[in-house]
Amino acid sequence: MLKIASFQVEHMSAGCVTDEAQPRFSWYAESDRGDNEITDAVLTVGNWQSRRREQSVVRYSGPALTPMQAYKAQLHVRDRYGEEAEAEIEFETGRMGTPFAASWITDGSYRFTEKKVSPRPMLFRKRTVLAGDPQKIARARVYVTALGLYELSIDGRKVGEDYLTPGFTSYRNEMQYQVYDVTDRLSQPGQKSDQAQDTREIALEATVTGGWAVGSYTYFRRNRVYGDKQAFLCELRITYIDGTEQIIGTDKSWKVTTEGPLKEADIYDGEVYDASIDPLSVPMHAAAEVDPEDLNFTKKPNLLASYGAPVRTHETMKPAAVFTAPSGERIYDMGQNFTGILRAKMRGRAGQKITFRHAELLMDGELCYAPLRTAKQRLEYICRDGEQEYSPRFCYMGFRYIGVTGIEEKDLELSALALYSDVGDNGSFECSGEMLNKLQKAICWGAKSNFTDIPTDCPQRDERLGWTGDIALFAPTAAFNFDMSRFFDKWLLDVKSEQGRGGGIPMIVPSVKIYNQVEMTLTHAVDHWGDCCIWVPWAEYMVRGDKNLLRRMYPTMRRYMQACIHWAELGSFGKNKRVWSAGHHYGDWCAPDTGFKGWMKRGKYTATACLARSAGTMSKIARILGKDADAEKFDRLKEETADAYRSVLMDQDCRPKDEFQTAYVLPLHYGLLRGEDRKKAAANLVRLVRKNGWHIGTGFPGTPYILFALADNGYEEDAYKMLLTDTCPSWLYEIKAGGTTIWERWDALCEDGSLNKGKDGDNVDMVSLNHYAAGAVGDFLYRRVAGIEPVEAGYKRFRIRPVVGGGLTSASAKVVTAYGPASVMWEIVPCGESDSEEAGGASLSKGGQFRLTAQVPLGTKCEVILPDGTAETVGSGEHRFVCPYTTRRPTLV
Ligand code: BGC
Repeated sequence: MLKIASFQVEHMSAGCVTDEAQPRFSWYAESDRGDNEITDAVLTVGNWQSRRREQSVVRYSGPALTPMQAYKAQLHVRDRYGEEAEAEIEFETGRMGTPFAASWITDGSYRFTEKKVSPRPMLFRKRTVLAGDPQKIARARVYVTALGLYELSIDGRKVGEDYLTPGFTSYRNEMQYQVYDVTDRLSQPGQKSDQAQDTREIALEATVTGGWAVGSYTYFRRNRVYGDKQAFLCELRITYIDGTEQIIGTDKSWKVTTEGPLKEADIYDGEVYDASIDPLSVPMHAAAEVDPEDLNFTKKPNLLASYGAPVRTHETMKPAAVFTAPSGERIYDMGQNFTGILRAKMRGRAGQKITFRHAELLMDGELCYAPLRTAKQRLEYICRDGEQEYSPRFCYMGFRYIGVTGIEEKDLELSALALYSDVGDNGSFECSGEMLNKLQKAICWGAKSNFTDIPTDCPQRDERLGWTGDIALFAPTAAFNFDMSRFFDKWLLDVKSEQGRGGGIPMIVPSVKIYNQVEMTLTHAVDHWGDCCIWVPWAEYMVRGDKNLLRRMYPTMRRYMQACIHWAELGSFGKNKRVWSAGHHYGDWCAPDTGFKGWMKRGKYTATACLARSAGTMSKIARILGKDADAEKFDRLKEETADAYRSVLMDQDCRPKDEFQTAYVLPLHYGLLRGEDRKKAAANLVRLVRKNGWHIGTGFPGTPYILFALADNGYEEDAYKMLLTDTCPSWLYEIKAGGTTIWERWDALCEDGSLNKGKDGDNVDMVSLNHYAAGAVGDFLYRRVAGIEPVEAGYKRFRIRPVVGGGLTSASAKVVTAYGPASVMWEIVPCGESDSEEAGGASLSKGGQFRLTAQVPLGTKCEVILPDGTAETVGSGEHRFVCPYTTRRPTLV
């Protein structure tokens, strides 16, 4: 039977509200017939129809959609056997530029000038009566946003499930507003006994804190980055059955105060909440209407209906252990490093003060705060009498441990909620190596911890910023494990808007003026960091096959490449023009054998290799978009740059002047070397690796690719030895040392458990235990260990070719492709002497049988290559393969 298993609009299966004039529809089907494909697909929205002969992402191109309207789309498909299936999806348009029938409001009496701190939270309130009978409400929507972070409630109950709204964007360019369906909330009859059934009073209340727009953050603790003080904008639009409309918008009839129970709120520092204050008895005054430009907004932002993946709570974490530190602080170990907020159920008395501190590390039995730098990660809660519950709403913490003072253990029930963008699982990896499974788990937790509306570097210290290099390198791993479509869409729009005049991409997006105005004007190209504008869309395109993202980003990518060429050519001649040394580079950032200066000195290697790689990717993208002349130019650029790397930066034997692992990894993996040169460089790399006892020696740029550089050049066992090494520096060292997420630096903790002070004494400033960048090895787990990777976008064609080694006896991976779930499961079944005959091989007493099961989605083709070299291309369905396994004898890891 044929069925449509997924049907999405703008990458959402339900509840999509979009301002996109041409929303995208994507879908996939499943069938129990093998080797199947779609031969006809008809998508209908109103009077508009699109017909395709195969499955693909379709962009609406019918008559202009009307703002704030509900729509239905129908999909009808037929497969090659003539079976048919259909599905329907509803979506809604947002305001599509319709101005709010409301004014921005603020607390006019609040002057906030102090530097480095966050403003007092503002509490807004409006009581009003519904114009019509609540039971005759056909539809009610609230459109809401803020300069700062807001939480809206109606009659004391939070509206929606989102946190940290309106989300973090480059506010001077675009700002999200959220749309919530509150029909059910409002259509209940009035509750007060003195109210008639058909009248209803409602109370709208919003707390607005400084957040990223006004609050203090960045490692310089800048504040008022986007505006001088908070402002709030909200429009509640109610449509009654008889067609009449009521609009309740923010204006000066709203009341405001800064004396509510939430006294302080700061993304890094936490909250101070006084529950003994009754918010209803606090004196309030009239709110002031403002033009955001008066609040020092450099530009009026483009207001867009939420287009990212909202931040929500996910797993509930329970303490794995509770103990008392020497200082007397009671410590709750949540058993996992993650990003989230605590939830405390308490019995207390009015005025009792409780503090909660958060850290990801213990040192001498106490919370270790040094790596947090200025971030306090602290909550102060002042009780009212009796049972009460508290969970912060305007900050988040990166932590594993919570230190509590001010309440006895018996009076507190403590848990925590993981908080991250709703990216949804997209894949899984598992194998017979327990430590590798723990590594995979740490990679996923590292990712979740850093998907807080934007891809951050770390979730705990005074940084948590959209460092572009980290996600440029991690994007393929992210896209295997999670559905990144909306998350990337949103962030890439900021990348596009923040591109500098010269084509450079800021190192941090949203660019938060960390280096002040100068950064904005001089934004230059930085290798591996700026390349996020090419590599992130490319990684996403390969999984989801949506050309629209490439199309949207192409002008940005192209201008970025021009900036790279400009910097590479600056002050150089001849072949040196393609060696990129000028400008700022992070180089081999975080390589374990040197420090800041050493990493950066390697910049000309990382930058030159990177330029060649991006040129190669750009040529592919240009061809996909039908820009052949551009493609040829990029091909030439790649050739010239590869040649410069080979001839200027390497000697006859393919050695750079100063040897380091990354200097070999990049040209090998980026395809800059051919034939004998490739062999020589691979031999040099493996020599270095062996000399180093299979310890990793790469910084950010080399780390994702070193195992590929080894395994794809004939050194599979060396790749496995490195992957399985568990002494410092290595991935598994972090796991063996108790790490449950990935570390920023390989040697963050010494073998004796103490904090690494570093070679150049700079480590204390940079010991995040939750940086996903080095978790980019996850890509290798999927592509080589399990062996699954796309060949054509969306997995239209894909390959399964496991690299068997390291004593692993099984591995499996699943990934949701544009065409539906694909999976691989392989195992080696050891054979005894007796069954050697039937397993079909002569020397099977030393090996076993290799068995592989592949799940191939409808409409795709998969090339399966077994360890004995046999290859077969198969169509959709489940396929089993067997071959003798004789080359290596499996030993359990
Ligand atoms: C961040 C990184 C980032 C880097 C840039 C660090 O402080 O935590 O992950 O990419 O700076 O060099």
